[in-house]
Amino acid sequence: MVFFLLLECLKRDWYSFSLVNILLTGGLGYIGSHTATVLSTHGHTPILLDNLSNSKKEVLGKLETITKTKIPFIEGDVRNERLLKELFQGFKVSAVIHFAGFKSVSESVAHPLSYYDNNFNGSVVLLKAMRDFGIKKLVFSSSATVYGVPQYLPIDEKHPTQPVNPYGQSKLMVEKVLEDLAKSDPSWRLIALRYFNPVGAHPSGLIADEPLGKANNLMPRVVQVANTPGEVLEVFGNDYPTKDGTGVRDYIHVMDLAEGHIAALKHLEKTS
Ligand code: NAD
Repeated sequence: MVFFLLLECLKRDWYSFSLVNILLTGGLGYIGSHTATVLSTHGHTPILLDNLSNSKKEVLGKLETITKTKIPFIEGDVRNERLLKELFQGFKVSAVIHFAGFKSVSESVAHPLSYYDNNFNGSVVLLKAMRDFGIKKLVFSSSATVYGVPQYLPIDEKHPTQPVNPYGQSKLMVEKVLEDLAKSDPSWRLIALRYFNPVGAHPSGLIADEPLGKANNLMPRVVQVANTPGEVLEVFGNDYPTKDGTGVRDYIHVMDLAEGHIAALKHLEKTS
């Protein structure tokens, strides 16, 4: 009993920080929606901005069912300066988690301009609006793709960054902007999280990784294939040093990743 009480107290302390309204760009997407549940369950207000380019509005209702609260949602594009201005005028935002972006490596090779525009330009527009409103805390969804071809394993933060596709390049470019911004004005608190493959779903089963159209990530693709007669799952690679020659990957559970954002926000607050 004492142990459980202690655990409960520790958990409360873990989730408690004074940043209240947190803007989640891309908040109806896979990682954003799961992070919204964790924030909301622990008394913070996630404000969701999403242009629904890769998510459905019905996720909002599911989030409200899970959290039993009303969650503010603004439908729109992070590149819309006027919209951001209205948003920051309407809500007292303490920090931003910037999930909004495109995430397919193959698409980025086919359509580099749309990746640089959405991922890079979108981030710059957001940062300018934040600066104008004195909001200087940001957690950025970067990607392990920035490392490029691994020179050693496991990859750590010191590993050189050499992205080999426009998607990874667009993420690294934003990281460079964040570095320069922090140098120009140390009152910015900025964190880039280089996610490795998130998988899994909220324990309620109500939300999951459900991209629009053909999935580009492995797990949602496996689910799509399993649910669609006639579809096949292509497995690439046959000469890796594994039992059957196919690749092996590490995954992180999306709820653990969601909690990682809480740790990042806490760190931003602690170091302010
Ligand atoms: P997702 O596609 O499920 O979510 C992104 C959300 O952003 C979608 O709801 C989409 O509609 C929205 N969006 C895209 N462009 C927008 C814009 N201009 N304005 C407003 N909304 C916009 O992707 P996710 O898996 O949740 O990934 C979130 C972030 O994490 C992305 O930036 C992605 O690059 C990064 N990331 C994801 C993975 C992964 O495997 N899922 C790995 C590394 C990094």
